[in-house]
Amino acid sequence: MGTAVPTHCPYCALQCAMTLTAPDGEITALDGGTPTVPTVQGRDFPTNRGGLCRKGWSAADLLQHPDRVTEPLLRGPDGELHRVSWDTALTTIRDRVLAAQERYGMDAVGVFGGGGLTNEKAYTLGKFARVALGTSRIDYNGRFCMSSAAAAGNRAFGVDRGLPFPLEDLGTAGAVLLLGSNTADTMPPFVQHLRAAQAAGGLIVVDPRRSATARLTDDRLGHHLQPTPGTDLALLLGLAHVLVTEQLTDTDYLRERTHGVREIIASVASWWPERVAGITGVPASSIRATARLLAAAAAPAGRVGLERTSSPAAAWNSTPMEPTPPPPRSTSHSSWACRDA
Ligand code: SF4
Repeated sequence: MGTAVPTHCPYCALQCAMTLTAPDGEITALDGGTPTVPTVQGRDFPTNRGGLCRKGWSAADLLQHPDRVTEPLLRGPDGELHRVSWDTALTTIRDRVLAAQERYGMDAVGVFGGGGLTNEKAYTLGKFARVALGTSRIDYNGRFCMSSAAAAGNRAFGVDRGLPFPLEDLGTAGAVLLLGSNTADTMPPFVQHLRAAQAAGGLIVVDPRRSATARLTDDRLGHHLQPTPGTDLALLLGLAHVLVTEQLTDTDYLRERTHGVREIIASVASWWPERVAGITGVPASSIRATARLLAAAAAPAGRVGLERTSSPAAAWNSTPMEPTPPPPRSTSHSSWACRDA
């Protein structure tokens, strides 16, 4: 019986739990030998409930992929990469970092991390950059896909991005609005959290394409809105307009828990459904029906996908999803922003 190591899939924000088991007790062998490929099993966890997508199931195959870099390579004068020892590699890095900083200053060296790092690795990388290298220049790939969501989160809630409620709470949502998200393809284990909304006929998918996620609304499980690409902000404003003009908002909640409501009401006043329909191509009747469905549902929730938050108008697109009424009704976890990754 091999060693079983509980861990998580590093590939996306769902962070599905998995167990890796290697027959000989060694998960990896980076000493030049052929690494043992562990078996992968899904593990029960609130986000994935034992499920994995194909990226997770095949995650361990990477260990034996012939293109995997397992030893230092240094580009030579011939322009080609050549194997070198670890001592040579580390000495070269040290010399070049010091030379660059001596000539151009400490910030001449930057560090770029990645979303696949564990918390511990990300923390250590930050310490390495700021303490060891003495540079303020550290960033990661999430900057490009998350900064607009962060701006929207700050604008709406005064805090940075993040899933503001436990994912399994979606199980009590009577309606879920997915916008710019093809989660059925990008993180399939997430789909099981949509079943309550589907059962209530309240899954709303906004996507110009007939995506795998859009097809989850078939058979009266929800509604698929297909706006013209680039018009999702107008659609959100139209939904907000209906909620406001038909007095479907929770005025007590808005008065007690929010500010700037008057400005929002004023800003959506000119976005009546017929006008929005002319811009988005979504029928005015569908806009009204969607707003009413969201307003009537228990614990409605909204979800933002990368396609939308990565667009040039992303921060503006994300913002209406976040403060827009209706607020929580019977539970405390209604929210208007969480993300694929
Ligand atoms: S959805 Fe797939 S890629 Fe994302 S964490 Fe789960 S197994 Fe990994």
